[in-house]
Amino acid sequence: MSGEHMLRLWLILFVAIGIVAGVVSGYFKARKIQPKGFKWKILRNEAIIAVVTLTVSGTMIGAATKWLWAHGVISSIATPAAWWQIGLEYVLYFFLFDTYFYWLHRWMHKEPVYSWVHKLHHKSTSPNVLTTLSVNPLESVINGGFVPLFLSVFTIHDATMALILPTNIIMGVYVHSGYEFMPRWWNKSWATKWFITATFHDQHHRYFTGNFGGYTTIWDRLCGTMRPKFESDFDKVKQRSAAKAVVIDPVPVSDTVS
Ligand SMILES: [Zn+2]
Ligand SMILES: [Zn+2]
Repeated sequence: MSGEHMLRLWLILFVAIGIVAGVVSGYFKARKIQPKGFKWKILRNEAIIAVVTLTVSGTMIGAATKWLWAHGVISSIATPAAWWQIGLEYVLYFFLFDTYFYWLHRWMHKEPVYSWVHKLHHKSTSPNVLTTLSVNPLESVINGGFVPLFLSVFTIHDATMALILPTNIIMGVYVHSGYEFMPRWWNKSWATKWFITATFHDQHHRYFTGNFGGYTTIWDRLCGTMRPKFESDFDKVKQRSAAKAVVIDPVPVSDTVS
């Protein structure tokens, strides 16, 4: 290839990448839940806490799980499972974890547990993916401990087991992403409004109260702990993404659930 050709190719590639980056960043920018929420100092602290928490809770939960396997408390069904068996086992995990998380989370908002344990996670008022791991190691052990606990009580198929850890990671990262990717009709459809969105948990970090659910909105809806303005705020974020990053007035901080 001649030098001239090479140069032309690079130019085309350069322009193409620029266009893609522009579109992608615009896509994300328009979906940012708190457009002015990012602070470097918080990100730095989150990174430090994440490393400590991952090391401590990873070691503890890993050791406990290994011990439970070795002593036959946890075992799995190695035979191939039918799709409906995987589905049922997965649904069982999903809703039991959600229940476990909701009630422990509400408890962790009471003193002195809040100051001692959960407050650290709430240092992040505008979540990003690192916020997922920015929790007190004790809280991480409590939440992460659900999986070995669940596996000790229920013996499930290998195939379902393989789905649980990725679900845990994806849900944690998704609710702390800081971006709302769900479509506008999400909270209006009877089928989908029961499942959490990033805005739902983002508001929990912004206002410190209400919206305690981890996977679903079921317990918050049943117990009246959902922020009354959750749905209208979700609509505002979606309107903004539709209008391509036109900033809408932030909601006053005083709008909290009592
Ligand atoms: Zn909380
Ligand atoms: Zn959180």
